[in-house]
Amino acid sequence: MLLFTPGPTPVPESVRLAMATPTLHHRTPEFEAIFKEARERLLTLLGMDECVMLASSGTGAMQACMLNLCKVKALTVNAGKFGERFGKLADAMGRAKVELKYDWNVPCSVKDVENALTNNPDIDAIFIQVCESAGGLRHPVEKIAKRAKELNPEIMVIADGITAVGVEKIDVSSIDALITGSQKALMLPPGLSMIGFSSGAVEKIAKGEDYYFNLASEIKKQQQNTTAYTAATTLIIGLNAIFDAIEIEGFDALYDNTQRRADATQTALEAIGFSMFPKVPALAMSTVFDEDAEPIRKLLKTKYGVNMAGGQDHLKGKLFRINQMGLIPVYESAWVVNAIELALADIGRRDFDGTASRVFNEKYFKKSE
Ligand SMILES: *Cc1c(COP(=O)(O)O)cnc(C)c1O
Repeated sequence: MLLFTPGPTPVPESVRLAMATPTLHHRTPEFEAIFKEARERLLTLLGMDECVMLASSGTGAMQACMLNLCKVKALTVNAGKFGERFGKLADAMGRAKVELKYDWNVPCSVKDVENALTNNPDIDAIFIQVCESAGGLRHPVEKIAKRAKELNPEIMVIADGITAVGVEKIDVSSIDALITGSQKALMLPPGLSMIGFSSGAVEKIAKGEDYYFNLASEIKKQQQNTTAYTAATTLIIGLNAIFDAIEIEGFDALYDNTQRRADATQTALEAIGFSMFPKVPALAMSTVFDEDAEPIRKLLKTKYGVNMAGGQDHLKGKLFRINQMGLIPVYESAWVVNAIELALADIGRRDFDGTASRVFNEKYFKKSE
């Protein structure tokens, strides 16, 4: 079965083998050397001044940012499950919040953020997804971050890049915290979250808040290549292994390939009559709105060996989401669009004529004039 869900993603064999080595104690020079290497590579990937790795799923990193970077009032952007989660975290952590709410296919607008900040000068942190995975939507985070900093240079901009880091190059010049997780574009098992920080964020964190998610004590420890509590040693060994795997061709090649695969998938799906759900699709996943999403998804699973994700909440049964994150062999993506075309024939919507795979291959392989 091809795992084509936008997280978790398949773990490459070289990474699984690297993680099969005997368990190391985390307070040893051997592990500290491994940690140092992972930390340096992560800093380069994120392009930020500081970083931490936490033993938690991505939501742990979101919570850590809420606790340590928002002291007064949060601005949260809810255009899906993950943006909604930032709002729920603000409530749970006792932060006042202003929430901008959108349909799941509509990106946040710079103007709405401007208005919210003007009407609420006490907002000290903005929380937004780069890619809102609920609908595969790309928010204009870089523009929002830049404008927010113009209006209030002290404001903290927290970007959830869990389905964007490793997918595309992100301009972090106005971003203070960039969150990612192990089980998406970094193709690791779940359980490791990572956050990059600007120097401004490090200053604001200075004392830190919370116990387990106290970022001040984590930063201090991790600068010494160790962690406040037991490190997720096996996942950090895996992180070095996935860096090795990606760096054979390089991150730029991965970004380029992801873009080409996403474009080819979109063009192929449109050629057989589908339309993309989000007004601005992210590259991490191809998201289609369709009344027959459920039967199509079921046929892919039972007949064609492909597991892709559906929709949640009010879009349950109405979406399918095809993963584009990670080192995906192009022949697998070509099979996925072909399988979808076969499923359309199975449910009697369209005779099969091979259009999807032909268009996919043309778009992906044909040199543009
Ligand atoms: C997967 C994901 C998360 C993290 O979820 P966890 O289940 O806690 O790892 C957060 N934000 C986005 C946009 C995601 O796609």
